[in-house]
Amino acid sequence: MRLLSLAKVSLATVLAACSGCTHVLPAAYQPAIIRDALPPGRGAVTVCAENNVPYVVVDSATMGQLDDEGARVHEMVHVRQILAYRGGCWPFLYRYRVDSAFKAKVELEAYCVWGRWMIEHNRVPAEIWSHITATMLTQYGTVVRNNCLYEDWNP
Ligand SMILES: [Zn+2]
Repeated sequence: MRLLSLAKVSLATVLAACSGCTHVLPAAYQPAIIRDALPPGRGAVTVCAENNVPYVVVDSATMGQLDDEGARVHEMVHVRQILAYRGGCWPFLYRYRVDSAFKAKVELEAYCVWGRWMIEHNRVPAEIWSHITATMLTQYGTVVRNNCLYEDWNP
């Protein structure tokens, strides 16, 4: 009976009563995905909404292209990271901005999932890996030594 009554409480009600408690979101939570024009070189970005849940903005210029889908795969990793992070979206974003090691760690994870997805869609693994290592070095100041494309394929 208690479970039944809990099930009647909407997710919005739970979140309103528990600011920052994004861990109550179901694992199958699907963020809003919005199309908008992003600056050149940005395929997608994950953003925090006012109610502390993430949503994804995908560049409208690349709609339907493989890279566009890949960018969504990358951002969905960030969505899962945010939902698993204590405090949810805004605390995650704050740490992302101030903690360069944390930023590099979550980006590498997102790029590795993206890279595996790209290989599954017939991209050349060596080129994908080269892109990941170059991006991690130039954007996040990190030298990646272990090729994650061949590790923990289904972690
Ligand atoms: Zn990222």
